[in-house]
Amino acid sequence: MIEGKQDESIIIGELLKFGEFEKFYHAEWEPRKRNGATIDWYIDPSCKGFAAQGFDEGKPFIQLRRLPKTFDDAFLAAHELLHVIKYVDKQYLEININNTISQCYEDGEIIDLAIRLGSLFDDPVVDRFLQNVYNFYPAHHYTKVVIPDTIKSLNSVGDQKYDLPRLKQVLFYAQFALQWDSITDQKALREWRALKRRYLKIRPLVTKMGEELFSMMNKDGYETLEKQRPLFNKIVNKYTIDGYKLSDIFRI
Ligand SMILES: [Zn+2]
Repeated sequence: MIEGKQDESIIIGELLKFGEFEKFYHAEWEPRKRNGATIDWYIDPSCKGFAAQGFDEGKPFIQLRRLPKTFDDAFLAAHELLHVIKYVDKQYLEININNTISQCYEDGEIIDLAIRLGSLFDDPVVDRFLQNVYNFYPAHHYTKVVIPDTIKSLNSVGDQKYDLPRLKQVLFYAQFALQWDSITDQKALREWRALKRRYLKIRPLVTKMGEELFSMMNKDGYETLEKQRPLFNKIVNKYTIDGYKLSDIFRI
């Protein structure tokens, strides 16, 4: 089995078999690559989703659970690649963390919250762009993977009692609602509405808070960095965990 750091050509070679990815790659990544942008690619069977993205001493990497085979795999790889593109273009929120406060929490808890805040802004924008410009089909991944995973999670836990885990539930709800906002597939939308009913029954408080955050994001707009900055500040001034305002923990 292939594992560990990979030559980019091996992974891209598989991905280019999908016409949507090929168009996306040539138009979006190749020009940046010519300007010196690079990515390290890894195959890691323990990767939680199919794909994940991160930085190693400032250098972007993408890891995949295995070599890409399906159209959904190509969509998820494109999703991570678009995160890297936003990083290369400096079109993302750079969230700084207050270390004194983050030390009061378990290792990685506050970093994880910062990542979720970033995803709240970026993931809906990334998926909408891949769908509308390059004809990827996020609705398939949402219905086949994200909804079943969410149902499993709903069946095991309701509204979290403590601020931090509950806020993470709220951020996830609002992000997913924003991601569904650009979906037009009626059959998929029925599944999303059924999931929302289940949410309301099992996590009533999270649903209420998540809907409120969703409406606020939609009203103010979050597509560009110029819109994201004031909205980010509004959000960190609105929410608190354990008596700390998020604005005391996070700064952009
Ligand atoms: Zn993402």
